Amino acid sequence: MKNALLIKYGEIALRGDNRHIYEKYLAKAVRLRLKSFDGLTVSREHGRFLVESDSNDFDFTQLIPYLTKVFGLIGLSPCIMTLDRSIDALCECSIECMRRLVPENRPFTFKVKTRRADKKYPTHSQPVSAAIGDRIIGSFPNATVDVHNPEILLNVEIRYHAYVYVDTIKLPGGLPYGTGGRGMLLLSGGIDSPVAGFLMARRGVRIFAVYFHSPPYTSERARDKVEDIAKALSEYLLDIRLYVVPFTDVQLCVYSQCPPPKLTILLKRAMLTIAETIAQKENCQCLITGDSVGQVASQTLQSMAAAQSGRLLPIIRPLAGMDKQQIINMAQEIGTFDISIRPYEDCCTVFVPEHPETKPVVSAVDAAWRRLPGIEELILSAVEAAEIVDIG
Ligand code: ATP
Ligand code: MG
Repeated sequence: MKNALLIKYGEIALRGDNRHIYEKYLAKAVRLRLKSFDGLTVSREHGRFLVESDSNDFDFTQLIPYLTKVFGLIGLSPCIMTLDRSIDALCECSIECMRRLVPENRPFTFKVKTRRADKKYPTHSQPVSAAIGDRIIGSFPNATVDVHNPEILLNVEIRYHAYVYVDTIKLPGGLPYGTGGRGMLLLSGGIDSPVAGFLMARRGVRIFAVYFHSPPYTSERARDKVEDIAKALSEYLLDIRLYVVPFTDVQLCVYSQCPPPKLTILLKRAMLTIAETIAQKENCQCLITGDSVGQVASQTLQSMAAAQSGRLLPIIRPLAGMDKQQIINMAQEIGTFDISIRPYEDCCTVFVPEHPETKPVVSAVDAAWRRLPGIEELILSAVEAAEIVDIG
């Protein structure tokens, strides 16, 4: 009998032939997160990872914070494991597990749930649970079984080894980072775009980011804020490459030449054009934005269509159907909200027209774009002048 950590992973278990590739990615991510600990081994056991230690008194709960940000994992359970899978050994592990939780005389209710993952194991789950339940009642005079609403749910998993545990800490789920291609995130200092990046990363997409910086209209602090947001995201992604694009010249060109109601749309179009060029250099297969349908004038369906006119890469908008409160809740959960609400403006808020168009016609926006003198050259120079910041 010894202590260990059982790690559960989610939907990758369902993915037929690709399963091994996904598991390899995930095992690598787990090992990387735990690399600062000596004497640990991570192995795979049929739909689970198992972390063991050389040392008998290693405290596995200290690993929890290191694994809570690994996409693809759904749960962690500090457990007692045994290679001897006899009913007697299972009972001993279960009693030890209970002893750690409750003083001998305290009344409590419990239920034993056995999962016989090794179908060759000779006894079915139900009789195993019953035998363990009896032994627990024998050892704890004030224990009672409650199958509907137990205070303690004792899990017993019979695999190559057997594992006994009580708690499962919930993890973010999703797919292993990097298994879903690459995406270029338009990352502003706002609340929305970091959440959009997080959601796509959780689907396995490796994230690159681009931020449009317009000094002196936006301050260095606004840029620092974006870097801090990228740093917060990198806790999930390990590293993230951020392109900081000098946007002032493009912005002034658009500002001085276009009718004010079209300003926001044309600026958005310039951003998407630049982001796509950089995305192609990084072999990204999509652009990602924090647009949410109807949130502001530039986020109506008509505005999105006009802004993206001419782009070749798909534009993924993971927040399209979410409302603001949902987005805020998620930003708080992932740890970007407090950074996003620092009061430094991003470039869009400085150049906001009083009456932006909400239902622009694509052909009219195309025509306004063509009338911008030298815009293509300005865009190319902005791409060339982009500064690369590797974070994480
Ligand atoms: P956010 O909270 O993400 O800033 P928002 O509600 O302020 O979004 P907009 O300003 O219309 O909305 O921006 C919509 C999307 O356009 C953003 O989510 C982001 O993907 C992109 N975007 C806007 N400004 C910038 C910028 N300065 N740099 C990079 N991307 C930007
Ligand atoms: Mg914004």
